[in-house]
Order: sequence, then C-alpha cells, then structure tokens
Amino acid sequence: MSVSKWSNQVIKQNQIDKFLINGKDFIDEEKISEKLKSCKTNDKNHIRNIIEKSKSIQTLTPDEVASLLNVEDEELWEEMYEAGAEIKRKVYDNRIVFFAPLYCSNLCVNGCRYCGFRTNNKEEKRRRLTMKEVKKETEVIVDQGHKRVIVVYGEHPLSDVDYMCDSIKAVYDVRKKSPNGNGYGNIRRVNVNAAPMSTEDLVKLKNVGIGTYQVFQETYNRNLYEYLHPFGPKSDYRWRLYSLHRAMDAGIDDLAIGALFGLYDWKFEVMGLIYHALDLEKQFGIGPHTISFPRIMPASGTTTFSDSKYIVNDADFKKLVTVLRLAVPYTGLIITARESPKVRDDVINVGCTQMDASSIIEIGGYSQSNGMQNKEKQQFMLGDTRSLDEVIKLLAQNDTITSFCTAGYRCGRTGDKIMGLLKGCIEGKFCKLNAVLTFKEYLDDYASLETKVAGERVIQKEIEEIGNIPYFKEHGLYKQLMDSYDKIAKGERDIYL
Ligand code: SAM
Ligand code: SF4
Repeated sequence: MSVSKWSNQVIKQNQIDKFLINGKDFIDEEKISEKLKSCKTNDKNHIRNIIEKSKSIQTLTPDEVASLLNVEDEELWEEMYEAGAEIKRKVYDNRIVFFAPLYCSNLCVNGCRYCGFRTNNKEEKRRRLTMKEVKKETEVIVDQGHKRVIVVYGEHPLSDVDYMCDSIKAVYDVRKKSPNGNGYGNIRRVNVNAAPMSTEDLVKLKNVGIGTYQVFQETYNRNLYEYLHPFGPKSDYRWRLYSLHRAMDAGIDDLAIGALFGLYDWKFEVMGLIYHALDLEKQFGIGPHTISFPRIMPASGTTTFSDSKYIVNDADFKKLVTVLRLAVPYTGLIITARESPKVRDDVINVGCTQMDASSIIEIGGYSQSNGMQNKEKQQFMLGDTRSLDEVIKLLAQNDTITSFCTAGYRCGRTGDKIMGLLKGCIEGKFCKLNAVLTFKEYLDDYASLETKVAGERVIQKEIEEIGNIPYFKEHGLYKQLMDSYDKIAKGERDIYL
C-alpha cells in the first residue's frame, strides 16, 4: 500500500473509531436477535402500557420496541394503529410536508446488487447534469409549486462534494414567476441524499446551506451488507454506519436515517433503526430528524429480489411504520412515491409526516421525460405517479393541510431546537402558522380550481382553530399570522414566522 493510501486509511479509521462507546459498535446483531426472541409476551396489559408510554411522547427502549414488533394479536395492532394516528396529531397535527427528489447524476462506482445505478449494470444510460441542466430541472419542480427538494447522487469522482455544492447552489439560484402570475417560486430548502463522506467534505456541504443530510444504512446485517455491496467504497459497512455521526461532528445536525426494506428481516431492520436513533441521541443529544423505510422496487438489470423471503407485504409494511411512529414519536417519517397511492394513504394515517409527489427519478427527467417512467434511465420504478396538485387536493378533501414550510431551518430551528419543540408538542401547533402561509401561497400560485376550493376550506378551518388557541392570541402570533396572510393574498411571498 502506498504511504498516502495508508494515511487515508488511518484517517478514515479514526473517523469511525472516535464514535465507539467502550470500543463497541452501536449495532450488536446478536443482541438484536436475542431481544427479538426474548421480548415476547401474551400479557396484553404490558403491551398497552408501552402504547400509553409512547402516547405520552416518550421514546421507547429497544426491549419495548421488540415487544411491539412481536405482537400477534390483531386487536392490539388496531390499538397501535390508533395510537400512531394520535401521536402524529399530537406532535405534527394534521400537516403533511412535501418535497421533490432531484436526481443529479447516476454515475456510480459501487456495485449495490439492488440498484439500477450500480456500475456493472450495462443497461443503464449514464448521465450527470450540467449546472444549466440542474437549473432547468429545478425550474420545472418550482413550477409544480415545490419549495424543498432532495438532491440525489450516485457515488463517483465526477459527482464529488464540489459538484454537489455547485449543484445545490444552482438549485438555490432559481427564482421563477408562478404560472398564474401572482407571485414567484423558488426552492428554499435543499436536502441531500448522498454517499457517506469525510468530516472535511461534510463541512463543505454544511457551508453551502443544506437542510437535511440523508444516508440509508440499507441493511444493519453486516454479512448481508457485505454480500450486497461486493466492491467500491460502499462495501465498508462501518464507514456508512458512522456517516451521520461524522455529519454531527461537521456541524450538520439535521440528519436522516433509513433502511431498505426487503433485503432482510423487517423486524431486525426496525431494531437497527432504533439503535441508530438512540445512539445519535446518546452521543449528540439529538436524534434523527427523519426516518425512511423504502421498500425495494424493481430496477433495471436486477431480478434477484422479487422472490426473496424478506419482501415486506403491505400489511407488515403498515406494522413497521406504526412501530416506528410509536418508538420515536418526535421523529419525522417519510413515505416516498415508491409506494402505491393506497399504501401511502394507509401509512399516512398511522404516522407519516413527509411525502413527495410529481416525482421523476430519471436524470434530467423533469424537463425531458413528459412525465413517463423509463426503466433504463431511472433508478427504479415508482408506484405513485400522481401529480402534486392531485395529491394535495385529495389530502385537503380529507382535512389535511399541506405545508411547504422551510422556516425551521432558516430561523435556526434545527437539531436540538426543533427536537425541543417537537418533544414539547409545540412544533405541531407552531408550524400550523407557517403551514397556513405556505399553503396559501401554493393555492394562489399553482393550484387547479378544484384544489384551490378544497384547500381554502382547510385554511379557513385552520385559521379558526388557531384563533381559539389562547397561547397564539396572548403572544401576538394570531395577529402576526393574519397580517402575513393578508400580505400573501396581496402578492408578497416567502413570509414566515
Ligand atoms: N448513492 C448514494 C447511496 O447509495 O447512499 C445515494 C443515492 S442512492 C440512489 C439512494 C437510495 O436509493 C439508497 O440508499 C437505497 O436505499 C435506495 N435504493 C437503491 N436501489 C433501490 C431499489 N431498487 N428500490 C428502492 N430503493 C432503492
Ligand atoms: Fe450507487 Fe447509491 Fe445506487 Fe449503490 S444505491 S449503486 S451507491 S447510487
């Protein structure tokens, strides 16, 4: 090994080892398996006590999570679904936050066996967007009414951290008049889904003003991880396991974890996610901002997964989302357009808080694909291709308010500050104000007539409710809301409290 390769290896090792507690990784597979075996009970009261604990917005212990995962009684599951809905209302109220994925490059040096972008998939058409193309894609997304995107990159020297920073700046640069001429649109929060990085690179990302940094562990089972990632930088399980710890070290405190469901036993992966969340909280005082639970989808050149015994059916999927909702009541849960509309509706009801719509996951697809899916150009196939307007209309008809709020990150309400608000159940109420303002903007600038009618009804209901909360009146927030609302109605934009 050359000296520089050797010293890079040492630096890398140090950036992993500094997060060990008593020399141990926070994932202990034997311990997880043991808990899943031993935490089983026929005592319904024991389970009901755990449900009550999460309803009082407390994080559950791994033993408690394992006990919930092992419930077989359908009556208890019904109680858990109801509890999930109740917790969501308490912490996040009736809001759904929207985002759009923006795939910038599918060049990749890794060999992930489940992903269409893997380097040895010769069927995949490769492309990296130029900055001009990033802006063009952003314009289409802005024209749909979105205010936040998640930029996605394969792992490759040509899409390194400098390319990422340039593309994020390009996204922030776009400002476009809205189609109906009332205002303008722009992206106000750029989240990032990218490979694990060194602390130094993560500082660069922080400095460009990202929202959330997201890395999925895929599977917490080490041996399987090694089989699924046979070569390339991603083959290092522990470099990935501590990627978000390094992000905290670099000053990024808005973090997102996830596992790719369908690779291994779903109960094991839920336990892995919980240990991950607890370790971040233990070491930094801040848990993950969101958790994702993508299910594996058909991808170009991959045939090996559809008959796997670990494929998660819809009923188990709802269960795993519910347990996550109960286990970490203050953490956002993301459900993406990988899933069908029916599945998305089901899991929104038990606790999801963020979703995407009008999504295109082909590189350059927003400006070039006419909304059609193209297996050889995208990472995998999507299950929900409905437009943002359509999804928002249906949610509004169901009394759910869409939020495009990005105020938290821009006012410094991130990390421990947002966790404090969430845990105190204040965020749910406070964010209602910004949800109303950003939803009003959307309805005036982008909505179809039907969506506008459904949305205005929800807004009036929300304003009435806010007016009845003494805290908002006493602290002048109701007045601030109404003043801001009037300004937006007259054409001012991007006002937040
Ligand atoms: N290259 C980076 C990485 O691997 O972390 C980020 C981009 S990668 C496209 C984002 C995520 O897509 C992966 O973490 C994985 O969980 C998910 N993914 C890959 N193949 C998938 C498939 N066939 N179905 C569903 N999700 C998939
Ligand atoms: Fe590359 Fe990420 Fe796909 Fe793996 S999951 S092949 S690293 S883009």
